[in-house]
Amino acid sequence: MDAATLDEAATARRQFLVLPDGTGWLPPGHPPVHSDVPLSPQGHLLLFWNGSVWTADRQGLNAEALLIHSMQGHVLGTGTMPEMQALAQQEIDLARSQGLSLEVKTYDLEGKFVMPGFVDPHTHFLTAGLFLNNVNVREATSVEVFQHIVAAQVAKLEEQEAEHNSLLPPSSDPVPLQWIQGGQWAEQTWGGQLPHRHWLDAVTGPNRPALLSRMDSHMAIVNTAALRLANITTETLDPAGGIIDRDEDGHPTGVLRENAIGLVARLIPPPTPLQLLAALQGASSYALARGVTTLSCLGRAPFSGNLNTTWEDFMSVMLPAADAGHLRVRLFAFMPLQQWPRLAALVETNGRAHPGGHLFWGGVKEFADGSLGSHTALMWEPYNDYQVEGTTSLHDQPEVVDHEWGTRMISLPALKEAVRGADAAGLHVAVHAIGDRSVDEVADIYGEVLTSRQHRLQAPSNVNINVSSSTVHVVLPEEIGAGMAPRHRIEHAQHLSGPGAASKLASFGIISTPNPLHLVADGPLLVSRLGEKRAGVSHSYAFNTMAKAGAAMGLASDWPVTDLHPIASVYTSMHRRDALDPGAPVYTAEEALSPEEALLGHTVDAAHATMLEQFVGTLRPGLRADFIILDQSPLAMPAEVGGGRGLPSVLHTFVDGVCVYGCA
Ligand SMILES: [Zn+2]
Repeated sequence: MDAATLDEAATARRQFLVLPDGTGWLPPGHPPVHSDVPLSPQGHLLLFWNGSVWTADRQGLNAEALLIHSMQGHVLGTGTMPEMQALAQQEIDLARSQGLSLEVKTYDLEGKFVMPGFVDPHTHFLTAGLFLNNVNVREATSVEVFQHIVAAQVAKLEEQEAEHNSLLPPSSDPVPLQWIQGGQWAEQTWGGQLPHRHWLDAVTGPNRPALLSRMDSHMAIVNTAALRLANITTETLDPAGGIIDRDEDGHPTGVLRENAIGLVARLIPPPTPLQLLAALQGASSYALARGVTTLSCLGRAPFSGNLNTTWEDFMSVMLPAADAGHLRVRLFAFMPLQQWPRLAALVETNGRAHPGGHLFWGGVKEFADGSLGSHTALMWEPYNDYQVEGTTSLHDQPEVVDHEWGTRMISLPALKEAVRGADAAGLHVAVHAIGDRSVDEVADIYGEVLTSRQHRLQAPSNVNINVSSSTVHVVLPEEIGAGMAPRHRIEHAQHLSGPGAASKLASFGIISTPNPLHLVADGPLLVSRLGEKRAGVSHSYAFNTMAKAGAAMGLASDWPVTDLHPIASVYTSMHRRDALDPGAPVYTAEEALSPEEALLGHTVDAAHATMLEQFVGTLRPGLRADFIILDQSPLAMPAEVGGGRGLPSVLHTFVDGVCVYGCA
């Protein structure tokens, strides 16, 4: 083992050693830790009272007190204080009859707000963890700031490389130059001009390669060194489903769209297992600090340029972490749709849940189109502001690309065949569709598959596995989804052809996972790109239209495409504007959700979108005791929060009845 590997091992170990209390090592950009809070819950049963308990259970949303079984990690009940005291006594009596002793500890909430931990049905969890250590130019307001941020990363990597080289024998070759990676750029933050490879060349020099993704990951900017490594020249044809942007003279500008990104991305050395473990732990700490306790991971593939990374991450990072009890959040891992037979085989032999209850699988993901920001979301009508930059080239697959209307990433017959196969194998399918035409096309495919589905699966059975030491039926991981028919999702569903599209989703029981914080990023583009009608009510970010139609929605962040900030996301769902900018405009107020709907969309409905609503997402007896304590109610957030200063703060996060963030 060389010195660098030893160093990495020490870092990873340090992270594991310090992290379980949630207050040790934190990645850059991590939300603040409220370490001054005196709560140190210990005891077998915990009773929280004298605050507001919001259950996310539509049968009864509000309660005065919450009782949990901290030792076994589940909710015992919510209700009035006398009801919970009586329930605690029953539990103690039952334990005594079995020769056990239980103690109950009571916590005064002093008016604070308790709710289930947030559930996020669509993130790229490991990518987000890796990004915490990469370049982030999301806030670059000019080319100079952009270059300044990249230059700081160049300096950091140069220092690391010099240190590594100093440890090598004098005759050996120096370590290869590391890639500049990351991105999250959005050209509107510096005025709208697309970046150029020369911006990067000026700070990376001629030899260090760089690839920075746009915030939506549908475009990337690469430098000249990266183009050279990928052998991309004026002669290179656009790949199917991708575009190499070119200057007037035909030279690549460095901007790559969709499948063209992979020409360069595949050359980036993959992260080491230790870097991935550190990313998993860094992302977990970040999520718990933001009050998010369950997340779907839709895979690293769109960012890594390699479909296999999603399986590798699952097998070599997530499963070992779950086995070792080091997975502090709950993750539902999706696999690429094309690989559904392999996942079906795994489900056949191993079920859908790790017995520890922190890792789930059984879902597959595909892309039907691109994004609005990259003009690649597939629309029925042309973009209002589409201009071909330089030359575009030839495709032998006419179904794949149509520049003026956006991009179709996969042919419809191929998509239908794969969806049918995955559905028949009982897998939960999630297809990315952002443009109005893509949403309609995917909904139609689901509609056909669901209509012709043979109901091989039985109605949900109430598997009754008794845990004798509790008065409630405790749901076990292996029971989740038992006998349930798979539900299918449209990821993002950002633009609708009209209210009829929402009704179609509702009639087939198709779930969508819209992203409130994408509205903040896309809002300034909507009218110029789509025109007033398509940017307006029942067309763009049509949350209320979908809610009124009865279409199920789990609201998601798409982290790291946007920040993992569920409270800001709830705010934007309620007020249709950016919570963090006091001067932010309001986009189509008619599409706002009520505070309750907004919060349900980030908890129980998000759990439903992940097939996990029998396990998490509400504070109901027998479900996991995953909950957060906020300093104030998010239901009462006023439209004027003053640049985010008035937003509620997460004070404590509990998973399985144990405080994992913000406790002494
Ligand atoms: Zn995504």
